[in-house]
Amino acid sequence: MGKLSIVATPIGNLEDTTLRALRTLKECDVIYTEDTRVTSKLLAKYELRKSVFRLDTVTEAKKTDEIIARLEAGEHVALVSDAGTPGISDPGARLVAAVRARLSDARIEAIPGASALTAALSIAGVDAGEFTFLGFLPHKKGRQTVLKKLAKSEIPVVLYESPHRIIKLLTELSHLGEQRNVVIARELTKIHEEVVAGTVAEVQVHFAEHPDAVRGEFVVIVTH
Ligand code: SAM
Repeated sequence: MGKLSIVATPIGNLEDTTLRALRTLKECDVIYTEDTRVTSKLLAKYELRKSVFRLDTVTEAKKTDEIIARLEAGEHVALVSDAGTPGISDPGARLVAAVRARLSDARIEAIPGASALTAALSIAGVDAGEFTFLGFLPHKKGRQTVLKKLAKSEIPVVLYESPHRIIKLLTELSHLGEQRNVVIARELTKIHEEVVAGTVAEVQVHFAEHPDAVRGEFVVIVTH
């Protein structure tokens, strides 16, 4: 029976690849990834030559059957995503659940490493002994319900947000009724890494004064 390695990859800085991730990507028979072009850059940096196949949210179910056949044949399969830890707002969970259910003998191992969630919390200065992670908020249906839930939260709430919606999210947070503080971690591990913290209103002013900062990737932490 084969082995499935769930491998975390960097969230921007390719040096954040663990030694174990490198060894796993070198030793495995095949790599499945969300975007073969993104993973090719990582493999090129470390001079790894390996067959890479696509597994994204659309193809996860179909590729799961393929991976199960490989594991049955004794292969070592590695799963990576575009960035960070697979399964955290990324494909992976359905594959892992299916392998666990259908191949009880297969080994599933975690190769931990970067995640925007933990990287942001580590420099937020927020007590993260307890927090709620909501990932990406729904764009339309259910968004208001989630925002209302967020407004009532007694513990920090962590969100992922795209540059297209970050200003909209801050506006929505400013309408919650209760004053909230936010920590926004942008472009973590990259050249333009930045953390902006303050009341929602203060952070809105920051982005109004620095429109260039409305770019890149964002983690938003909402606190009391
Ligand atoms: N699996 C990934 C992880 O473990 O962090 C998350 C994947 S999710 C599709 C991508 C989102 O994560 C981005 O839209 C952004 O909200 C956040 N993200 C990823 N890289 C980031 C970075 N370098 N800085 C800030 N946020 C980042």
